[in-house]
Amino acid sequence: MTTSSSMSLTTRIMIGMLAGITVGWLFKALFNDSGDFLLNLGFFELSFKNFFVDGLFHIGGQVFVASLKMLVVPLVFISLVCGTCSLSDPSKLGRLGGKSIALYLLTTAIAITIAMTLALIISPGEGINMPTTSSFDAKQAPTLVDVIINMFPTNPIEAMASGNMLQVIVFALLFGIAMALSGESGKRLAAVFDDLNTVILKLVTILMNLAPYGVFCLMAKLFSYIEIALIKKLIFYFFTVVAALFIHALVVYPTLLKSLSGLNPKMFLSKMKDAALFAFSTSSSSATMPVTLETATKKLGANNKVASFTVPLGATINMDGTAIMQGVATVFIAQVFAVDLSFSDYLMVILTATLASVGTAGVPGVGLIMLAMVLNQVGLPVEGIAIIMGVDRLLDMTRTAVNVTGDCMVTCVVAKSEGELNEQVFNDKHAADAIEDIHFDKK
Ligand code: ASP
Repeated sequence: MTTSSSMSLTTRIMIGMLAGITVGWLFKALFNDSGDFLLNLGFFELSFKNFFVDGLFHIGGQVFVASLKMLVVPLVFISLVCGTCSLSDPSKLGRLGGKSIALYLLTTAIAITIAMTLALIISPGEGINMPTTSSFDAKQAPTLVDVIINMFPTNPIEAMASGNMLQVIVFALLFGIAMALSGESGKRLAAVFDDLNTVILKLVTILMNLAPYGVFCLMAKLFSYIEIALIKKLIFYFFTVVAALFIHALVVYPTLLKSLSGLNPKMFLSKMKDAALFAFSTSSSSATMPVTLETATKKLGANNKVASFTVPLGATINMDGTAIMQGVATVFIAQVFAVDLSFSDYLMVILTATLASVGTAGVPGVGLIMLAMVLNQVGLPVEGIAIIMGVDRLLDMTRTAVNVTGDCMVTCVVAKSEGELNEQVFNDKHAADAIEDIHFDKK
């Protein structure tokens, strides 16, 4: 046994994260804001903060996230083609799509309703009078018609190059169906895709093994810049969002999972740790997708046929955590600007936020852009976003963890309902522990 294998991957990532946060805070506390703590060696001057934070940590963190993102398009395309062409019954595809989209929309609508209710009870924006110092450019919400038309790529290579996941999903589905209908040629190609899938999953595993270092760098950089003082000013807003996120992850998901599939929610949550930690540290459900897929198939026991469809779809259209932030933020901004929202305004917020989450990429900070659309819709000042922007980074991390948990919950429910969930794997506490260790020294 090597040292790395004596500790679980989750523990190692956790240690990387805590060490990163501590180092980041130390840098922030010890060095002045401009980062000019110079070590003068006479012949050589070294700025500590520049060297470590903007140098080493920045490079380490960005390389880690880029490597994860690098896998997303090939992984989604290959595993979705494998999944689709192995579906024996083509009508299953329609059912899968219908069920997952309905569940994704339902969970998002529940999320935003909880968030607004909590915000109305706590009233985080009452008595806050904040002049806005910066402005925010609002974008128009895409219409449903545009979203549907834009799902079909005119050029699949361009869709892959620009990382347009909905288009990649549609192309992979069509390609997989055609392969299934192509007899011998399709079978030969399917074998190649199966091999490609094995190789790309190995790459995911290698990256997961390097994650503790990547996470350390991301956290150290982030926390050496984060302004905790800003959180103090917006403490009620901050904690209303966090409370709603926790309620959704620890009450709503377990309840839905139990009632819709009969699966054990405790087991589910304990298996979500790695994916949630990845999401937390990268703030991107899209970059986390390789890990989410691995969790859904190898730890939760969902068949790749289902997971290869529901996970990428969820990472693209399902953002419950984001919807929660939007719900709280809408009520908060209305309170700060003393605007009375009517009941139909609230319904409009639920509808817009739910639809706006479809077709928006899972990348850091995108939630704020979507929030601008929601505010526009009910006539609230979009400048309100400038008030909450300062604390959004930390909230983004937390809500992304909820976003990926939601993707896996829906995957489990859909897989179970289709008879495509291996309950033995789901109920095995140590399922997929073995995939966590790659010994780089072995041939
Ligand atoms: N960072 C989130 C995600 O990738 C999106 C957001 O809320 O900004 O899921």
